Amino acid sequence: MAESVDLHYASVAVGRPVRGEFTYRETEAFRGKLEPGQRIRVPFGNGSALGFYLGRAATPPDEVVRRIKPIAEILEPTAALSAEVVELARFAAAHYRYPLGEVLRAALPPGLTSAVESKEVAADVVQFVTVRSPVDLQQFKRAPAQHAVLSYLVAVGNRSPVDEVAVAIPGARETIRRLYAKGHVTIDEEPVLMTVSEGLKQTRPANLTSEQEAALHELTPHVTRSAFSAWLVHGVTGSGKTEIYLRLVETAIANNKGALILVPEIALTPQLVGRFRSRFGQHIAVLHSALKDRERLRHWQMLRRGEVQVAVGVRSAIWAPVANLGVVIVDEEHDPSFKQVEKLRYQARDLAIVRAQRSRCLVVLGSATPSLETLENVRRGRYQCVTLTRRVENRPMPEIALVDLRTERPRTPDNRNSEPPILSATLKQAIAETLARNQQTILFINRRGHSTFVVCEVCGQSIKCANCDVCLTHHSSARQMQCHYCGHAEPLATNCPDCHGPLLQLGFGTERIEAEVMESFPSARVARLDRDAASSAERVTDLLARFARREIDILVGTQMVAKGHDFPGVTLVCVVMADTALAMPDFRAAERTFHLLTQVAGRAGRGADAGRVLVQSYNADAAPISYMLAHDYAGFSEVELKRRRALAWPPFSRMAIVKIEATTPEQAERAAKQIARGIERHLPASSQGVRMLGPARAPIARIKGKSRWQIVLKAPSHALLVQPLDSVDRMLSELPSGVRVIVDVDPSALL
Ligand code: ADP
Ligand code: ZN
Repeated sequence: MAESVDLHYASVAVGRPVRGEFTYRETEAFRGKLEPGQRIRVPFGNGSALGFYLGRAATPPDEVVRRIKPIAEILEPTAALSAEVVELARFAAAHYRYPLGEVLRAALPPGLTSAVESKEVAADVVQFVTVRSPVDLQQFKRAPAQHAVLSYLVAVGNRSPVDEVAVAIPGARETIRRLYAKGHVTIDEEPVLMTVSEGLKQTRPANLTSEQEAALHELTPHVTRSAFSAWLVHGVTGSGKTEIYLRLVETAIANNKGALILVPEIALTPQLVGRFRSRFGQHIAVLHSALKDRERLRHWQMLRRGEVQVAVGVRSAIWAPVANLGVVIVDEEHDPSFKQVEKLRYQARDLAIVRAQRSRCLVVLGSATPSLETLENVRRGRYQCVTLTRRVENRPMPEIALVDLRTERPRTPDNRNSEPPILSATLKQAIAETLARNQQTILFINRRGHSTFVVCEVCGQSIKCANCDVCLTHHSSARQMQCHYCGHAEPLATNCPDCHGPLLQLGFGTERIEAEVMESFPSARVARLDRDAASSAERVTDLLARFARREIDILVGTQMVAKGHDFPGVTLVCVVMADTALAMPDFRAAERTFHLLTQVAGRAGRGADAGRVLVQSYNADAAPISYMLAHDYAGFSEVELKRRRALAWPPFSRMAIVKIEATTPEQAERAAKQIARGIERHLPASSQGVRMLGPARAPIARIKGKSRWQIVLKAPSHALLVQPLDSVDRMLSELPSGVRVIVDVDPSALL
């Protein structure tokens, strides 16, 4: 039969920062072998690029058809991305205005993100060496190295991992090879079993609380129903929300359904992963950035091959290839870490809803302090809600007391020029009592470093970063002043660079608190948990494990101590300064403060002993602080929603920020004004309520040497933002080089 003459064309997303889909020719050899989501290599520019086959394309018009290039290579026989993930990526690309190919690339684990063939990663294995018994050690008298290795092996029971022998005896690997060649030992491999850290093992509670029962009674049927439904699990800290998630996953597994669990920055919540691991053993994949690339790829492949059906991971796990989803869970759904603040600026909690809609399954958002967005969705009837009002085993909620710094640290003529002590007498006494009872204390302060600014006593100038419009923070352990925005560091100055006046250190961070605590309680075991003290995930895990084993009495830290940890020995939690997060120039500052304080307070009294929380503040009347003191989420959210409604902030509007960065302030200003004029020209009729705020200098006017301006757009619906944002896109080509424009849709903050 004659060869068919009709040519086939493929629609392809290219993994490069270019918008749109591209058309390539399907060569005869690839016919019938392409499926949507498959990774391919395509010619692009002068070279080639990773591409994703999306489907058949229409035959292009005659003028261009001759220029259409053929697909170069198919990288794997099967699609790396499921149709479902491709769908989600399409949504994200359109909503967050990001190139589809780049979104698809972001959905893949390391190792699959470039145009090379994938290698299947086998399970990690450990090599074992075993002695062929019986062995006569005498026989090796003249070969001291072999004698040493064999003696070691005999002593440990004839068998050991090769690595361990190599640590014990220098040069052992070579010796083992020789012994193996002569037939004295055998070598074999065993897969590494992912171990659950000691102290994390949790048993399955035999009885659920009545509130857990009630919640599961509502939720469980939805796991197998194959229909979309969205639920909020609103439960106070320690009410057993995690146990609810675990039971839902059990149901999913029992019914051969998949489950996807998103948690905030996992490195900070090793306990949570431990709980899933100890319940489900090897039946889960764990996806987070602290894993080595190889491990991430392996876990991803286990999911893609359908060997496991449960994935637990951070934000990026929203892209996990879990098949046949029964439930998507977002733990601590209010947590800011679900929003990615660079490149593809997606909000994983929102994408979880979209994914569940497309997969027709249950989505559960859990929190002690639901975001106002989620709360409003419940009020509007879009989500349903179950509530847990009591802690398990009727443990009391911690008693929260205010330490009012206005009266506790009054300004007197003596101390007017110096800062009063940071740890009030009340705080110190409570710490002393807790130490005396052999219980543990957490001190929370929302800032790293020793002093947050260094200021000249004579001219009043504070020392700023050379690249950013930000004060430098003094880090005493590094003996440096550091910029928290660009990483710039310089030695601590002793005198003002301008007038040579003496320098004062003001504002305090974790290092200073740690030092003060050590001074006040010299015999206590004190540790600090922040990004400086625990730079790697292992160090965080290690520190938290030591705290769990009660090898640390007092833990000083940033929000890293606030996340969902469950330390039964902690009976005192001190918020050193509740006001720091409030001062941020952002419409979410109050909400953030309330969440953070409630979260921190929730660490107290989770064991058999009752907990106590002390909150130091100068602003005790501010809503987030006063309602937090009263454990009153409902009260706080009511006043805050009222305020948001009055000012048309989310959840009563949708937002986008257009950020303009340029080499000079003048260039940034000119570009910002040009873009603003362009937006204005395309603004829909005013009655539709799209509002433009700015252009204005960004709250931090310079970062990393770039001057920054911004335009904030608010509208009653996301759809109304599309037209103005399209007009921004059209203007990009008119802007001078050196100007960069970033659009952040549904931003988490104005900063
Ligand atoms: P949350 O996630 O709401 O903060 P957790 O799920 O961490 O609460 O539960 C708090 C503690 O109570 C954990 O140590 C957990 O193992 C335990 N727990 C949960 N449910 C029960 C139950 N039904 N009976 C006994 N202990 C429970
Ligand atoms: Zn800087």
